[in-house]
Amino acid sequence: MDTEIFCLPAFEDNYIWCLRRGGALAVVDPGDAAPVLRHLAASGDRLCAILITHHHGDHTGGIAELVRSHPVPVFAPAAEAIAGTTRPLAGGDSVELPELAIEFAVLDVAGHTRGHVAYYRRGSLFCGDTVFGCGCGKLFEGTAAQLHHALNRIAALPPDTLIHSAHEYTASGIRFARAIEPGNPAIEVRGQEVLRLRALGQPTVPFTLADELATSPFFRCREPGVIAAARQRLGREPASELDVFTALREWRDRF
Ligand SMILES: [Zn+2]
Repeated sequence: MDTEIFCLPAFEDNYIWCLRRGGALAVVDPGDAAPVLRHLAASGDRLCAILITHHHGDHTGGIAELVRSHPVPVFAPAAEAIAGTTRPLAGGDSVELPELAIEFAVLDVAGHTRGHVAYYRRGSLFCGDTVFGCGCGKLFEGTAAQLHHALNRIAALPPDTLIHSAHEYTASGIRFARAIEPGNPAIEVRGQEVLRLRALGQPTVPFTLADELATSPFFRCREPGVIAAARQRLGREPASELDVFTALREWRDRF
């Protein structure tokens, strides 16, 4: 029996990622309880765990209502105040979900928020608002250096890792990537695929790390074309890879 992974859409563009095996269900970042409760009622699945990546309301808003009717463990970063947390986590910890026969490694991916974590097991990463299709999280609490470090950490995972982001932002990420690296054919190929999926109303997430490495400027700060774009933006030679990343992150905010 394999673990099935699917998403429940929430709000405008959030995805609540679900892991399911033999009727046991774990959910990642339930910002809204309603879609999860509807799924449980319709499927007969039983909730066994809630995993949280960071404290923002569109990732945590459903916890209280879910645990009222389903008193399950709530895994969340210890460095952030998240009501309902029963298993505070830090990078280097692991999360065991015996009902799903899954063990996750907890990665510290601070940057978007101070204590942001991601959940990784061979083949899948649940990264909240750290990586989006051709994009990365805004810097609300952390520094560009922290987020750059987090992306480098993710870049070192196996390239076939499926990245499960918490938002459908890929189409807008592609527009930015194209502006940075207009000569990169991989961006055009991915852009076509994203258009096709969105026309069918399908998610563009998950995507592979390999896709990100080939198309996302945030993972390509060492590429000559990306460095050239940063040089033009800064009006000077970028001092480091982090300098390139920082310029891109600021540029993206105003794009
Ligand atoms: Zn967030």
